[in-house]
Amino acid sequence: METLPVRSSHRSEWIDITARVQSIVTGNGIGNGFCVLFVPHTTAAITINEGADPSVARDILDVLSRLVPRGGSYRHLEGNADAHVKSTLVGSSIIVPIVDGNLTLGTWQSVFFCEFDGPRSRQVQVHLLLEASGRGPG
Ligand code: ZN
Repeated sequence: METLPVRSSHRSEWIDITARVQSIVTGNGIGNGFCVLFVPHTTAAITINEGADPSVARDILDVLSRLVPRGGSYRHLEGNADAHVKSTLVGSSIIVPIVDGNLTLGTWQSVFFCEFDGPRSRQVQVHLLLEASGRGPG
């Protein structure tokens, strides 16, 4: 496992970590397999969505904020209940297949670390699994 440090600079933001994840895959020399990304935080998340147009991430953040308002009525009194809910809605892990040493992301897909209670120093765990057949997914 490798740990990818991520530094957020806003309370809510998505940070494109695709190139850094691909560097770890390349650096490990893995041919075919899977990259499991896990975020060990309760107010952050990880997801895949469009990276070409930054408006998409902004739109999703806006929708999440309308869905789960920061000033809503919550039992958790730390002031970050909305961030906990958003973390669960988005999820704490993703899997990306690796073929011939490359993440098999679609043309418009990027991997985003999702901050919901920043700014903070965070981390993403990167686990690389070899394909049993050696022939790659699909
Ligand atoms: Zn909390």
